[in-house]
Amino acid sequence: MKIFFANPKAQNILLNKKLKKIFNNVISQNNYVLGNENIKFESNLKKYFNIKYALGVNSGTDALKIALKSLNLKKNSEVIIPSLTATATGSAVLESGVKPVIIDVDKTGNMDPAILKKKISTKTKAVIVVHLHGNPANIYEIKKVVKSIPIIEDCAQSMGSSINKKRVGTFGEISCLSFYPTKNLAAIGDGGAIITNNFSLFKKMKLIRQYGWDDKRVSVEQGYNSRLDEVQAAILNLKIKFLNQNNLLRNKIAKKYMKSLKNLPIVFPQTLKNTFHAYHLFVIQIKQRDKLMNYLKSKKIFPSIHYRVPLHKMPTFKKYKGSNMKQSNEMSNKMLSLPIYPELTLSQQTKVINTIKKYFKTK
Ligand SMILES: *Cc1c(COP(=O)(O)O)cnc(C)c1O
Repeated sequence: MKIFFANPKAQNILLNKKLKKIFNNVISQNNYVLGNENIKFESNLKKYFNIKYALGVNSGTDALKIALKSLNLKKNSEVIIPSLTATATGSAVLESGVKPVIIDVDKTGNMDPAILKKKISTKTKAVIVVHLHGNPANIYEIKKVVKSIPIIEDCAQSMGSSINKKRVGTFGEISCLSFYPTKNLAAIGDGGAIITNNFSLFKKMKLIRQYGWDDKRVSVEQGYNSRLDEVQAAILNLKIKFLNQNNLLRNKIAKKYMKSLKNLPIVFPQTLKNTFHAYHLFVIQIKQRDKLMNYLKSKKIFPSIHYRVPLHKMPTFKKYKGSNMKQSNEMSNKMLSLPIYPELTLSQQTKVINTIKKYFKTK
């Protein structure tokens, strides 16, 4: 049997009966978008994050676009983002009609506060902090550096991660979530959300979510269509109940990897003190990464790479490179995402571990 780095199907098969019931319920409703399930989901998110406002939207990318649009940025504004992130982070900035400034990361793989400090200028109107792989970024340092510039937290990979027991997603002005099928909280299709404690930004983002409509369906400002489907909201209402438990299972798997592979020339995820890593991905660093990857593939184990091409090396984003990229370049050559998901069995993980050990023995 093949072992993948992520396996959304395993969870959906486990929940098969409950999911079918959800589909049946939604089919017999008369409202398929932004209905009662969405309201319930928004309330679940508010509770989960202990935050005042939440909005279900169509995807994590849309969440970022809506968040940026709510800040009313002028055309020549700059938004600083890290080089190691999903393409979505950069696309959302470009689509918002402003200029991304892409900067290097630190050893955690997240935005480096020292570089950020040097790159902030009068043109900087927002900073997007990504908690990459679920590993919390150095948000306290970043907050010191940005002062009054709004922070958008991109929590697409870090739902459930925390710093000093405070959830990431509650440190910035606005936070964006994704429920793409491989994420820690996963829809069966696209889905996203925005959370904030700021009432005026919340009101504005709610308008932008749907054509700029007010309560009377009159457009009072330019908006998008980014509604969350009822079927996805209902699935998320079911799965959010298991999220914390699943994140603990991810941690258990991560700890086993670190214990079992500790004598090998492997660099494990570098976390900051007092952080909880939700292990959306378990990313090791290793020399001659592709050699190990190919070996694992030949044994039916399929790791992945997040990310092989950092943003500043993609043709679309090259010209927005804003700093030296020493760390991103090095990490993108060495990183490898090993299989990690709550349903990964002990015998599957043991196979991954033994295969890696064997690779080093025969090397
Ligand atoms: C997945 C992801 C997104 C985009 O989310 P979608 O729901 O796929 O649009 C944005 N940022 C990061 C860091 C992601 O991992």
